[in-house]
Amino acid sequence: MLLLSIGFADESSNINDKFNELCTYLRNNEINIAMVENDIAEYHYIKLLLKDSEKDIKNFDNYRDLFLSYATDIIYEYISKNYEMKILEKLIRQNYGYFSPEEMEDIKQKCGSYIMGTGILPVNDVITSMKHRNEIYKKIEDYLQESNEIIIDGFVKFRLKNLEDDISEILDRMIEEYMVEREYDEFIKLLRYFVEIQESKYDVLNIYINQNGDYTLKDGNSLNITRELFADFEVFNENNDTTVDDILLSIIVTCAPRQLIIHSVENCRNKEIIETIKNIFLERTIFCDTCEDCKIIRSGQIV
Ligand SMILES: [Zn+2]
Repeated sequence: MLLLSIGFADESSNINDKFNELCTYLRNNEINIAMVENDIAEYHYIKLLLKDSEKDIKNFDNYRDLFLSYATDIIYEYISKNYEMKILEKLIRQNYGYFSPEEMEDIKQKCGSYIMGTGILPVNDVITSMKHRNEIYKKIEDYLQESNEIIIDGFVKFRLKNLEDDISEILDRMIEEYMVEREYDEFIKLLRYFVEIQESKYDVLNIYINQNGDYTLKDGNSLNITRELFADFEVFNENNDTTVDDILLSIIVTCAPRQLIIHSVENCRNKEIIETIKNIFLERTIFCDTCEDCKIIRSGQIV
């Protein structure tokens, strides 16, 4: 009895090994299943056959869902690698040929993470990436519920008609993100350079983050210099929508302290500013949560 027949073009893929593993698993669970392979025209076929005995059919029934979800997984992975990634490579070459080879590789990696669901993605991308993958997965699963014969080329052509448009959309979005990231990197590099060449106004600058998220700045002698430092930048605040975090960043970059100690960082309302500071000041940044002032902050008072 034919359980499933899969026709595909790329013989170099590991689809055979994957189906072999599935068969071994089922055989270990007393299901008489065999896998045969043959070539017809341009396609390589894998056929999974179940022994027609009443016992085997009954046994297999308990594993039908598992069988289908494994088969869906294997076919999904094949489509990702052999269609999605190839479409992606083609679109990058066609539309973004002006990037350097290294940049194109970076962009491919970034899109690859999105398409295959590997690597680290920003939160909003994680969700849309899951949605993208899930849609394809669901279509394969639905198809296998209805039919025990699939030719992957035809399936992609007729059931995943929008695949190229979807990949193109993903690519454009990832390019946008890539440009923003690159701009941020350049901004950080510039500030890092500025801090390096700038004469340090303070050997040590302490930034205390109170429980209400407000900042208190003190020099190495524990002298409160918050008012004095913020005063220089007050004019910014009146004229535009510069945030207190922007001002803080300007202050510490201008002061270029040799050492920057950030106290009670867990109270910070804006984690990005801390990341940015760390990226600019690198090993000059120290975090503290044990000093006397940190204890005062923890007790709910302002330092
Ligand atoms: Zn501290």
